[in-house]
Formats: sequence, C-alpha cells, structure tokens
Amino acid sequence: MSSSDIEVEIVYSTAIKPAERMDADNVNKPTLDALVGVAYADDRQVRHVESTVFDRSTLNEGMVHGRVEHIGRLFYSIHPHVVLIVVYSDVRLKEMGGSSTVQQRRYEEFNRDFNSALAEAATAAAKATEDEFVPSAGVYREPSTGYFVCPRCRGENKRSLLVDGREGFRCPVCSGYFHDNSRKTSSGIAEPRRGPNSWMV
Ligand SMILES: [Zn+2]
Repeated sequence: MSSSDIEVEIVYSTAIKPAERMDADNVNKPTLDALVGVAYADDRQVRHVESTVFDRSTLNEGMVHGRVEHIGRLFYSIHPHVVLIVVYSDVRLKEMGGSSTVQQRRYEEFNRDFNSALAEAATAAAKATEDEFVPSAGVYREPSTGYFVCPRCRGENKRSLLVDGREGFRCPVCSGYFHDNSRKTSSGIAEPRRGPNSWMV
C-alpha cells in the first residue's frame, strides 16, 4: 500500500499467563515494524493503531471488541501465540474494487481459513489422545512422548503417567502395578526401558 491513511488493529491472542507474556503496548511496535515491506513501505503511513490482548487463559472473564468475524479462529488455534492483524485503508479499498468486492473476498477467505484451522485443531486433538496399546503389559503408550499411561486411571478419564520399573509399570495415582510379560523375570538380565520417569528396583 502506498497511501498514508492506514489504520491497523492488532489482536494478540495468547494462552500464556499475564506475568509471562507481552503487554498490549509492547505488541504494537514489533508488529508495525514487521509489516514494513509487507503491507506498506514505511510505518509513517500508519495514522492509527490499536491493540487488544485476547487472553485464552481467562476466556470467561473478558470480552473482545473489534473484528469479531475473525476472532473465532483464534479459539481453535493450537499455537500458544497468535497475532491477528487487520489493516484498513480507504484508498486501498477503492483500488481493490470497493467494499462489497472486498467483503465477498474476505468472506470466502474466512471460510477457507476457518475450516482449515478447525481441521488442524481436530487433527492435533486426535493425535494427543491416540494411545498405543502395549499388550505385553496391558498399558497404553503416548506415541508423541513415549510415556506410558495407566489403563485403570485412563478408564476413569484420568491421565496418569506410569513409573517404568524393571519388570513392569507402577501407577503413582491408583498404585496399580502392571507386569510387562515381554521383560525377563528377576533371575534373567533385564534392561529397563529408560525414560524420564525411570526408576530402578
Ligand atoms: Zn492409575
């Protein structure tokens, strides 16, 4: 854009707690800098900027004003930080064919992006809950982390990570013990599967 009537609206969506993240006013400068060469040639073309922190950790407490049609996809994002940037310019709007043409285009883009964000989130959620069953011990294993999960707690919709011992697994939550039949008994030489929760017996 080459005109000097540019206004920018920034929504910084974050799942990070207030003490550990950027303030709304610290979001403006780096965002405007990053748009140089993308949306405009010089940040002096921007005559107005406003930003909102959209806190996904306290969703029930706050309301977000602004471009509500775009906010929906922020709910479904799997990323801890998302910056939504809306750039306005009447001059540019005219160049692009006027408001109804642009509105139609945005509507189409929104539907496309929203659907792909939903699909992405659904895939991530499926991956997170998709455990492998380990038949020799009757326990589950998280493919993404390699951690073993207690089948008894899992049946009660609790997620307890098992402590990996020499011959089997112990649950620190329900105290269940799950012998692993694929491992040698104490008379044999057994190498425990080492992990972050390994312990020796
Ligand atoms: Zn358990």
